Amino acid sequence: MKGFLLWGLLIFFMVYAIIPRFIMFTFGFGAFKKGRARNEIAFTFDDGPDPIYTPRLLDLLKKYQVKATFFVLGSKAEKHPELILRMHHEGHLIGIHNYVHKSNWLMAPWEVNRQINRSANIIEGITGIRPTYYRPPWGLPNLFDMVLRKQFQIVLWSLMVGDWKSRGGKEKIKKRLLHRITGGSVIVLHDCGETFGADLDAPVHMIEALEDVLREVRMQGYTCVRIDELIQIDQELSARPFRNDVSGTVSH
Ligand SMILES: [Zn+2]
Repeated sequence: MKGFLLWGLLIFFMVYAIIPRFIMFTFGFGAFKKGRARNEIAFTFDDGPDPIYTPRLLDLLKKYQVKATFFVLGSKAEKHPELILRMHHEGHLIGIHNYVHKSNWLMAPWEVNRQINRSANIIEGITGIRPTYYRPPWGLPNLFDMVLRKQFQIVLWSLMVGDWKSRGGKEKIKKRLLHRITGGSVIVLHDCGETFGADLDAPVHMIEALEDVLREVRMQGYTCVRIDELIQIDQELSARPFRNDVSGTVSH
């Protein structure tokens, strides 16, 4: 009986958690994780807004005229509406990363739904625009997140560099980013170090590294765009596969 129950639990966990994650990351089914653009890349920032690091990051993005995407926690947006408003006014895209940083693997579908809608209400209350992009914490979707696709576009990433740890500092982040960025990259970074497993001061190094990286990618000819723009480029490429005039991004 005990063995039967254990097998049942294991199968349930595989179907609810492991398989959806595998399908989304491996096949990109149900989620956007990399664009086909040749010259455009997208920086995304998770876990904020943070009262110390987010303003510094926004200053940096402004200095280099870069538009980015923020996946924010509803609870932090509620605490720092002025930062959400600033992101919005400065042209960044705001997506949801749950109300608190809790894995969808540990929540029932209706709880995830509540987290997302509560966060969407908060952000809409601040900016007047209801978010339609969603990234599950730790990139761990569950089976029912597939259903969310009707309401929200799930966004994962193609490039992650361990910036939530201070060890290795600025140089580690810079080196990994510059080595691995290619056209269409969706880069995930973190503007808050309060998440379980992260270092509190980690965003210091991320922001320092990012300044060098933004300068370098600009010289390499990349344009930094928001996730909705990167998706739009893919749609245009699909609609006109034989034309070569869409943002100069066709690779054939
Ligand atoms: Zn996160």
